[in-house]
Amino acid sequence: MRIDTTLKDATALLETHTSSPRLDAEILLSHFLDKNRSYLFAWPEVELTEKQRQDFNQALVKRKDQYPVAYLTGYQEFWSLMFAVNESVLIPRADTELLVETALEKLAPISNPRILELGTGSGAIALSLASERPDSEIVATDLSSDALIVAQHNKEALKITNVSFLQSDWFNQIDQTDFDLIISNPPYIDPQDRHMQTGIRFEPLSALCAEDKGLADLATITNKASKYLKTNGWLMLEHGYDQGDITTEGLKKAGYKNATCLKDLPGNDRITIGQLTKS
Ligand code: GLN
Repeated sequence: MRIDTTLKDATALLETHTSSPRLDAEILLSHFLDKNRSYLFAWPEVELTEKQRQDFNQALVKRKDQYPVAYLTGYQEFWSLMFAVNESVLIPRADTELLVETALEKLAPISNPRILELGTGSGAIALSLASERPDSEIVATDLSSDALIVAQHNKEALKITNVSFLQSDWFNQIDQTDFDLIISNPPYIDPQDRHMQTGIRFEPLSALCAEDKGLADLATITNKASKYLKTNGWLMLEHGYDQGDITTEGLKKAGYKNATCLKDLPGNDRITIGQLTKS
């Protein structure tokens, strides 16, 4: 079958199953053809080989069940870098780029900043920061050794040298106490949330859900971080759209007097940041 008819049929097949049927079909087909998406439009009449057709059809069956496109292709773009992903790691989200952008802004006046990322998953946050700030020294942790294998692979693929990965349950294995920034996108979804019924059910639960209506890990990090930060150091946390007030209050109570919540592009409360100023 030709590229154009294959795409048309695949889009129709995915129509009622995903919110972006045409785009999903294009990304998957270009992946199995080992070409970029523009090839599909330049060469609509090219015939698929039998192997390409089979691989593509198998992927469509999984996609109909909402299995994530990024796990099917093995890659997700974040901060204009390509990150390898698999089921051991959360798929990096565009919303999380706000965390990277804010960190870069606040770190701009600091030379050779020392950064700690907690719960790095694929390494997306730490490696993006490292690529922008080659003068920084970054420690990035995860509890999952499978996630750290993916993160280490990404570090090598992106040729980044200033990040070291460490297996740790939040701060447990951290002994340095002079960080300029502690940054994290921890699990923050309430396990009862109905949103867990969608395609994110294929992502690691340990990266998504936390006890206490999703607030348990945000609270642990907020309450322990000050011990590991320099005076004037920053704490930056991603959280759910309805957790802005409670996270901001938590940071204020923990000594970050000017804690503020920032909104993501769609306009939802998304991250809370605070600076540990001297009292
Ligand atoms: N933002 C992600 C989602 O709602 C969740 C990420 C997280 O729990 N840290 O799909």
